[in-house]
Amino acid sequence: MKKALLCVWREKLSINSKPKILISACLLGERVRFDGKIKNYNLSALENYELIACCPEVDGGLPTPRLPSEMQLDGNVINSAGIDISYEFNFGANLALNTANFHNIQVAILKSKSPSCSNKMVYDGSFNGVLVEGLGVTAKLLEQNGVKVFDENEIEDALAFLLGL
Ligand code: SF4
Repeated sequence: MKKALLCVWREKLSINSKPKILISACLLGERVRFDGKIKNYNLSALENYELIACCPEVDGGLPTPRLPSEMQLDGNVINSAGIDISYEFNFGANLALNTANFHNIQVAILKSKSPSCSNKMVYDGSFNGVLVEGLGVTAKLLEQNGVKVFDENEIEDALAFLLGL
């Protein structure tokens, strides 16, 4: 028992362990996007980091593929059929925060324009393709709890931020 505990602490304290970054699972090529498609991203700049994947929508209980969803003015999230899926979004956001806390993660790289993951622009809730300033549900919760969120176009900024911590 003591030996097992020692191993856990050794792992936590290891100076050789890579710094960890929370990352949207879809950026890693996992089939979790709402449309069921896989897209490839160049993440070579992150090879010296341990990437901890999360997909708040799937982790929150939504299927893949699923209908597109957008945040409304009141902060709730509905899908294109008009069904309120705020519960699943909030559940997944809390799981992502728990994951970040468990791994002592201070930086996340999440997918832009997502109602869960975006760190600056989201669709306006009309399902007409109009982007407005705003954070996705998970990005907002992470930021409120001290995890700095970047998107896939800001990888260099994320690494610079990490080096400055
Ligand atoms: Fe999942 Fe976020 Fe990617 Fe959407 S943007 S598929 S919620 S990881």
